[in-house]
Amino acid sequence: MRLHKKVFIDLFVKMIGFGVCIGIVFPFFTLLFGVERSTALSPLFFLSCVFAGIIVGLMGFFIVKANFKKRLLNLINNMIKVNNKIISFQDETLDNEAHTDEFMISEDSDDCFGQMADSFNTLVQTLMETLYFQKGHRIYIENLTENLDLKELSDYALEVLIGHSNASSGALLIEKEGELVTTSSYGIKEGNELETNNMILNVLKTGERSFLKFNKDIILDGILTDYRPSELILEPIVFNNINTGVLLLATAGKLDVKFLEQLDIFMRSFSLILNNSLQHEQMQKLAALDPLTGIYNRRFGLNRLKEECSRSTRFNSPLGILMLDIDKFKMVNDTYGHIAGDRVIKRIVGEIQRILRNGDIVVRYGGEEFLVILPGASNDNAYKVAERIRYSVSQSKTIYGENEIQVKVSIGIDSFPESNVVDHTDLIAHADEALYTAKNTGRDKTIIYNR
Ligand code: GH3
Ligand code: MG
Ligand code: MG
Repeated sequence: MRLHKKVFIDLFVKMIGFGVCIGIVFPFFTLLFGVERSTALSPLFFLSCVFAGIIVGLMGFFIVKANFKKRLLNLINNMIKVNNKIISFQDETLDNEAHTDEFMISEDSDDCFGQMADSFNTLVQTLMETLYFQKGHRIYIENLTENLDLKELSDYALEVLIGHSNASSGALLIEKEGELVTTSSYGIKEGNELETNNMILNVLKTGERSFLKFNKDIILDGILTDYRPSELILEPIVFNNINTGVLLLATAGKLDVKFLEQLDIFMRSFSLILNNSLQHEQMQKLAALDPLTGIYNRRFGLNRLKEECSRSTRFNSPLGILMLDIDKFKMVNDTYGHIAGDRVIKRIVGEIQRILRNGDIVVRYGGEEFLVILPGASNDNAYKVAERIRYSVSQSKTIYGENEIQVKVSIGIDSFPESNVVDHTDLIAHADEALYTAKNTGRDKTIIYNR
């Protein structure tokens, strides 16, 4: 029964009321024990009993209040602290562990106060863990989405997964263009061929998690890590029902059980972003490379030439280019067919690449015309490279069925700063002009632009 809106005032009124009632009843009660009626019912004794009743009621009220209020205030304070923590949570830097000690209520009573404290503590624990997980996951996704580079993406994901799982080592293996490659690894035994490991290949094939606990007494062959692991998990990376890779985590201790429950969520986000990265890489390749030969196409090649020109101008370093065209190539197509012609083109690219050094660039400029960019090369250097290419091509043969096809090439050269050029288009125009001269003066030769 509620008398008032405030519980403690309610309690106060009830206790005083109870005291007054006791005070009124008590004189009649004393009659039973033979106290004289005139004494028991005298106004003074009556008033004394009522007064004593009020005092007892008051004391009862203060005892109850002192006992309950402390506990309730403790609960309220901790609730406020938890609330403040939730509000400020998004701005705080994050540790790996959810810290809950400061919010816990210590209560050792076995009754409903103890149960209340236990329920509160469990609630706080669950709430904090959920908050920490959500925030950690959000930061993880934010960082993953900022990057499309496969290596950097894998390194970051592995670092986070090792950090969260208690693992001492791990690796990420991704299937790329039909091959399994290790994109990131940490603490894996030197020389370990993860890509051909049967356990890993099996997880990639089945798409099912493999969790292994090793008994300390068992001697293991082919342990993947530097140390003897006691637990190892192999988690498939699945996107759109296609198994695209495997995560390996190993530890000499114990993997975090909570993390293993959340691993699925981490891997789902990773596989989505991984797919973006792989697609991006593929698109970049498609946009930059010539499909027949795998070298830069004209658009990207010209961009690269432009960049090299700017660098050469900035550092005043030489830059040589070759324009190379296959001689009488139409005849190859006419005699042996287009497919044979394609093979000859590929072979010539192979010969050019074999001769070039690191940093030199070969571009498919037209159908059977190639641009070679030689950073640091003067006319003389470029001429030597060109002649080696011309000789090497003339000596090579393309086997096509019964036929051995041999072709020759003509090459035009120009270089900066020997030639007076304003930009990369001048270099191209000059080398083209030299090539034209080579064609018109008998082919199978190298001509340096000279005007
Ligand atoms: P020249 O010595 O004057 O350069 O004679 P050419 O026959 O090489 O010159 P032309 O420009 O008349 O012919 C080039 C030929 O290259 C024509 C074209 O069919 C062929 N060609 C261009 N691209 C490809 C290709 O990707 N594959 C094949 N098989 N042939 C190609
Ligand atoms: Mg030609
Ligand atoms: Mg041509």
